[in-house]
Amino acid sequence: MLIKPHVPEYHVPVTATVEAGLPVYSAERKQQVVKQIKQRLEEQNAVLVAHYYVSADLQKLADDTGGYVSDSLDMARFGKEHPAQTIIVAGVRFMGETAKILTPEKRVLMPTLEAECSLDLSCPADEFSAFCDQYPEHTVVVYSNTSTAVKARADYVVTSSIAVDLVGWLAAQGKKVLWAPDRHLGRYIEKITGVEMVRWQGECVVHDEFKARSLEDLMQTYPDAAVLVHPESPDEVIAMADKVGSTTQLIQAAQGLPNKQFIVATDKGIFYKMQQMAPDKTFIAAPSHGEGAVCKSCAHCPWMAMNDLDKLLHVLTTGENEIFVDESIRIKALRSTQRMLDFASQQ
Ligand code: SF4
Repeated sequence: MLIKPHVPEYHVPVTATVEAGLPVYSAERKQQVVKQIKQRLEEQNAVLVAHYYVSADLQKLADDTGGYVSDSLDMARFGKEHPAQTIIVAGVRFMGETAKILTPEKRVLMPTLEAECSLDLSCPADEFSAFCDQYPEHTVVVYSNTSTAVKARADYVVTSSIAVDLVGWLAAQGKKVLWAPDRHLGRYIEKITGVEMVRWQGECVVHDEFKARSLEDLMQTYPDAAVLVHPESPDEVIAMADKVGSTTQLIQAAQGLPNKQFIVATDKGIFYKMQQMAPDKTFIAAPSHGEGAVCKSCAHCPWMAMNDLDKLLHVLTTGENEIFVDESIRIKALRSTQRMLDFASQQ
């Protein structure tokens, strides 16, 4: 008998509660903390790599100190190529682990180790491995939002920027594909490629909350706005998009499309970079409530929100929150992760 994918229960913090616990800075205090962080980065030969979804303060700091702000694929590439001996990853745990998979000789620190991801939590390695064992003839493709152990079980890792191309390429070689963990992205890949896959049923708690009917109302309020949607969103929201793409692809669309207004269905942390890259344009968060539902994340990831300046200064001062991965698992995860980088470099 085939085992159905079993998505375990996991705890999801409420973003507003996380944000209520964050430090509040006066302008002067913030200046002091930023100055100390800059000093420590230099003293420790460290570079800050931040995801688009963390706070504007952290993204600005990464920009101002020769670090990098990007999506998870580019963050991993940058950390590997940068000469700094310490990489500080402001994001969620799988991003720190990916940096360690690619650059084991470097020290990888994170402002907090409590920053998880619902996709990662929804796909425990043991259960996933048992599921894969049911389909020995399938090529296992996993999203980068997974643990090192799940990557180690996979044949390929992908990000949303290359998922469609990679699955299409595998199918063209006659391969059957098992996909994990995001159910919405999996369905989107199937729709675009026409390839039917065996799919895990996890979801991103942020994108899953976007609501089609409320989006329709918002589109009537802003009839000239283009709608940008991340493919982790529900089907019916994706169907309303002018552009579907990874975070980097959505930022490029904001720059390239002629519209002056954009309704954006992804974490609103991305507005910092969008505004920087397209300063004459206006960005509006897509609705994540309505239709009788109340949002928990309200378009901002609770785990991304856990990163803050004080925590960053703390790890730079103490060396706490270092990422370690088991070497035998890392070597297996490196194989599937390196295939992602190689495939992406040929696109
Ligand atoms: S936004 Fe979604 S996919 Fe990204 S880290 Fe948060 S829970 Fe995971």
